[in-house]
Amino acid sequence: MTSTIQKGTTDTAAPSSIGHWFSGKVVHSQSGRTSPVYNPATGQVSGTLGLADEAELNEAVRIASEAFPAWRATPLGRRAEILFKFRALIDEHRDTIASIISAEHGKVHSDALGELARGLENVEFACGIPQLLKGGFSEQAARGVDVYSIRQPLGVVAGITPFNFPAMVPMWMFANAIACGNTFILKPSERDPSVSLFLAELLQRAGLPDGVFTVLHGDKLAVDGLLTHPDVKAVSFVGSTPIAKYVYETGTRAGKRVQALGGAKNHMLVLPDADLDMAADAAVSAAFGSAGERCMAISVVVAVGNVADPLLSAIQKRMPNIKVGPATDDKAEMGPLITREARDRVQGYVANAAAEGATVVVDGRNHDLGEQGFFTGMSLLDGVKPGMKCYDDEIFGPVLGVARVETYEEGLKLINDNLYGNGTAIFTRDGGVARQFQFDVEVGMVGVNVPIPVPVSYYSFGGWKASLFGDTHMYGPEGVQFYTRGKVVTSRWPDPSTSRIDLGFPQNR
Ligand code: NAD
Repeated sequence: MTSTIQKGTTDTAAPSSIGHWFSGKVVHSQSGRTSPVYNPATGQVSGTLGLADEAELNEAVRIASEAFPAWRATPLGRRAEILFKFRALIDEHRDTIASIISAEHGKVHSDALGELARGLENVEFACGIPQLLKGGFSEQAARGVDVYSIRQPLGVVAGITPFNFPAMVPMWMFANAIACGNTFILKPSERDPSVSLFLAELLQRAGLPDGVFTVLHGDKLAVDGLLTHPDVKAVSFVGSTPIAKYVYETGTRAGKRVQALGGAKNHMLVLPDADLDMAADAAVSAAFGSAGERCMAISVVVAVGNVADPLLSAIQKRMPNIKVGPATDDKAEMGPLITREARDRVQGYVANAAAEGATVVVDGRNHDLGEQGFFTGMSLLDGVKPGMKCYDDEIFGPVLGVARVETYEEGLKLINDNLYGNGTAIFTRDGGVARQFQFDVEVGMVGVNVPIPVPVSYYSFGGWKASLFGDTHMYGPEGVQFYTRGKVVTSRWPDPSTSRIDLGFPQNR
């Protein structure tokens, strides 16, 4: 495919200008406001992102509003056909898409491919939209009267997404939103905006009419505009907790339906009977994959009783074998952090950990890659507990804390007392304890010997407590629910033999 979209720049190339996707083509911002896009592996600026002003925000909403009537009238089978074609195009171009992700996010190629595969599951789910939108039908609810329920799209809906999954999280949202008959405006992260344009182009090639999918690049101005514009009916958000709360409060105050997923601090409870090697492998993979920049990353291992010492040393032993490097290195397993500020912030937690009372077992700040970029190594902290910033805060980097507790109950309390409730896992061979944990734990997504329990696309994704603001989880059946509203029709066809005047309240018997 010859794409009009740049596919991630090289270091020697001049920074490219990244525009919006309006009415089926790239339109460069005229606002005069820009934001640099970096290649985190080199620290060089690779692109310049134009940030929307109010006129561009209004234009995006106008385009999406105008496209809505024809799109909602498009037969379900045709919508499914477009999504099937889109699925095939993504599969065909997956290496290119993964490279675009890596060039701006920094994650290694295999990780970017994994993100894409999990995003694609949501497109596959949405291909079943004719089945998913089936309503109920009650024949003869009263004499000659039938009652049936239908679900209809909302209109223009918006998605505001974080940097850490620039393809998957938008797919969590737009696959269902579009399949349900809405038109969708994506406001991607400013850090890694290019992949959204490539996806837009593939949607167009799959046959999606222009205007059904719009990409509006921007910052707070664009977000605030989407949250208050009267023609935007619903907003899906994924990002940090303070912004999720702000988005939820601002959007609902403006009368919109809002689902806002926030940050996380995910605990992995390891019981003394757990398979130690399996638990250590899982902890290392889930803590350091994608440099810890995952909302489902494990950031605290809660070691119960005498498992702590052997588990700590099994984790420590595995860490030097993980290769840190740029995505261009086939052997690299962990890339850089997203920005210089993010790296400095993460390193700050490690620098302060000892003064807070934790033991720095492995200090990732010592990791010298001998090159530029926003790299930091993996850190392991022992003895973390509430009251320490390295325990309380979402670090969002390759830092794993180990908390020591004496009992299962103590471990459970630690998890339930935590501000966040996104994901958690228990490692044990005892099915009874695992079942009790699943029953007791106040967290939205639970793994039993599975460290990153991201639900498959035919379930829904979402945390509890400060990890979610709103009533519905994202994607899957709750996604279809979120992007549609119900209507119930009570119907009778003229039958002259039963027609009469009756001023009594209608009864069904
Ligand atoms: P972020 O909150 O900084 O940004 C998310 C989006 O909000 C971006 O599109 C950004 O442009 C916008 N935004 C940022 N500041 C804003 C402001 N003041 N007003 C209005 N809009 C604003 O998040 P991030 O750094 O891009 O992503 C990392 C965070 O996302 C982490 O906290 C992570 O846990 C969370 N996350 C959560 C999930 C989940 O499913 N719960 C998934 C992925 C990421």
